[in-house]
Amino acid sequence: MPAIRGQTAERGMWTDPRAEDGSQIIESLPKVELHRHLEGSLRMATLLELARGNGLPVPRDERALRAQVQVLPHDPLTWQNFLSKFEALRHFFQSPEVISRLVRESIEDLAADRVLYTELRFTPAALAASRGFSVDEVMDWVLEAGREAMHAAGVRVAWIASINRHEPIQMAERVARAAAERRGRGLVGLDLAGNEVDFPTDPFASIFRDAAKSGLGISVHAGEWSDGGSVYHAMESLGALRIAHGVRAIEEPRALEMARERRIAFEVCLTSNVASGAVRSYAEHPLPRLIQAGVQVTLNSDDPSICGIRLSDEYRAAMQHFGLSHDSLRGLILAAVQAAFLPAKDKRRLEGQLQAELFAKAS
Ligand SMILES: [Zn+2]
Repeated sequence: MPAIRGQTAERGMWTDPRAEDGSQIIESLPKVELHRHLEGSLRMATLLELARGNGLPVPRDERALRAQVQVLPHDPLTWQNFLSKFEALRHFFQSPEVISRLVRESIEDLAADRVLYTELRFTPAALAASRGFSVDEVMDWVLEAGREAMHAAGVRVAWIASINRHEPIQMAERVARAAAERRGRGLVGLDLAGNEVDFPTDPFASIFRDAAKSGLGISVHAGEWSDGGSVYHAMESLGALRIAHGVRAIEEPRALEMARERRIAFEVCLTSNVASGAVRSYAEHPLPRLIQAGVQVTLNSDDPSICGIRLSDEYRAAMQHFGLSHDSLRGLILAAVQAAFLPAKDKRRLEGQLQAELFAKAS
C-alpha cells in the first residue's frame, strides 16, 4: 500500500500530519459525543487477536482484515462500501466476555480522548447475529459492561439502541420493546440507521413514535445518502429529536425551517461523510452552511475505527477546513450538552462542569 498522509497503525488515511505540530489544546478539551457506534469503535489490535484466536470467519492477516473492517485509501468512497464494513464486524461478538471487553475498550478510548459524556449507540441485531443471542441478552451485557467500564474510566456513558432499516420490521419491534424496558437503566434513546437509499422509513414510523411516548430520545439517520426530504420526514413522521448526519438538509428549506423551529440538533460527522461518499470532500461539507442556517450542530466521530480517527481529529478537521475557532468548538461542545438525551438537572450539572473547564482552558 502506498504511503498515505499521516497514516499510522491505528490512525487512518484522514489524519493530517500537520495536526501533530499544533498545540494539544484540542486533545485536552473536555468533550461530549452524541453520535458514535460501538461496532465502529473497536480496536484493530483486538479484532486481530480475536480473529486469530477464535477461528472467526474473517482474515487472520492484518492487511486483509483491515480491508474488511476499515475504509482504506483505495476503497471506493460509497455508502455500499461503508456499510459492508459492518457486516464483517458482526462476526466478532462471540460471547458475553468478548462483548464486555469491546465495550470496555471503547469506553477507555473515549476517556483517552477526553470525552466526558457520550451517548454510544449499538445495534443489538448485530451483536446477537453470529451466535444467535437474543437482543434482550446482548442489551443487558452491553449495559452491564458499560456501567462497570464508565466508572473505571471516568466517562459518563448513556446508550442508544440502533435499528437498521434494511433488517426485518420484526427485529425493529423487538429492539424497540427491549429498549423501552431498559429505559432508566442506562438506555436513553432509539436510532434508525442502515441503508437509506433502498429502505424508506415509513414502516418504522409507529415504532419510533411509540418509543418517543415511552420516554426514549429519538435520533434518525437521514439526509446522509438520501435527499433532504428524508430529514423533514424523520422529524415529521418519526418524531426525531436529533438528526444523524442530515447533510442534505441544506438542500431542503422545509427541513431547515422545521429543525430551527423544533431546535433539532444535527449530529455531524465530517470524516465519515467523506468516507461514505455522502459528500465529495471536506471542503464541500455543508457544516458551515448548516451553522449559518441557524440549526443546532454537534460534532461527532460516527465510526472512529472504521475511519481511523478520534473525535479530536474531527474537531481539528473543522478548524482546518472551515476555520472554526477554539471558541466555536467550545460552543459546539456546549450545544451537544443541550442536545443530549439527559434530564434537565443532569444537563445543568454537566454544563457547569464543562464550562468551568472550558473557561479555564480559554484563559
Ligand atoms: Zn451513524
